[in-house]
Amino acid sequence: MKQATAEAHAKINLTLDVTGKRSNGYHDVCMVMQSIGLHDMVTACVGTGSCIRLSVEGSDLPADNSNLAYRAAELFLSETGTPCDGISIVIEKNIPVAAGLAGGSTDAAAVLVLLDELYDTHLGEKKLMEIGLKLGADVPFCISGGTMLAEGIGEVLTRLPDVPQTHVVLCKPPIAVSTPAIYRAIDSAEIAERPDTQAMCAAIAAGDCFRVAQLLCNVMQPVTAGMHPEVEAICGTLRSCGAMGAIMSGSGPSNFGLFEKPEEAQAACDTLAAQYPETYLTNFCTAAQVKR
Ligand code: ATP
Repeated sequence: MKQATAEAHAKINLTLDVTGKRSNGYHDVCMVMQSIGLHDMVTACVGTGSCIRLSVEGSDLPADNSNLAYRAAELFLSETGTPCDGISIVIEKNIPVAAGLAGGSTDAAAVLVLLDELYDTHLGEKKLMEIGLKLGADVPFCISGGTMLAEGIGEVLTRLPDVPQTHVVLCKPPIAVSTPAIYRAIDSAEIAERPDTQAMCAAIAAGDCFRVAQLLCNVMQPVTAGMHPEVEAICGTLRSCGAMGAIMSGSGPSNFGLFEKPEEAQAACDTLAAQYPETYLTNFCTAAQVKR
């Protein structure tokens, strides 16, 4: 038996634009993605028997093949022609589910990376990303991590310099958002404000965290906020507590604010905790960049 563990990091979107819809139903996007410190712990053990076993701790997510981590193990075996000698996967779930933080995609990415290591298949990042794309558009990004410009359906990735150090408060209200439902709504919505992705990439390259904060923009925000007013309310609280900028991540409902000073970030956490007692909150610093 061989065993290994990996951190599976969540992501936030510094920008998110939906630029088109393909005939197969997929959407073209243009977004700046950022891995964050918040992570699940994924442990894989191979040579355990004859089938795939998954257990998820800290969440009532199903542990069958509706779980993206399970499907990642199945896909790894079929893509590599590896006979299954028994795979046991344990996920310690810390990332909120259906939150716009790529929780499922990052678990799947970690499983692919771990199995490549444990079975000595040496597929390397590029091939793992190709396999990961079959599981979901965010999986290739989660395999590599860090700060990236994502285009196509999210799989055309360009690495960007690390974002400048800033304090981030992440806040997820206790509601679940269905990403497909938001995409359906955005198809018929008038997009009033789009991100300036080029300017965001330039601000990141210049290490200018004020400009990064000014340029935060997510075209999905008005759509999700129309269904869940908590989104605008939380972003408003983040700004009134001194955030340089605050937006929703992905299809939501998680929101984040960027703060210059750690004490402001902490005060925002305290205010949000008092206003929204059921809310999931975390406070971290982008200095800890996450890359594989
Ligand atoms: P994205 O930002 O990539 O759209 P998300 O953060 O909005 O993702 P997830 O947490 O990945 O959403 O959950 C989306 C759906 O995937 C949920 O309905 C959930 O039941 C399902 N799912 C399957 N496997 C997992 C997993 N390992 N972790 C979280 N969700 C999973």
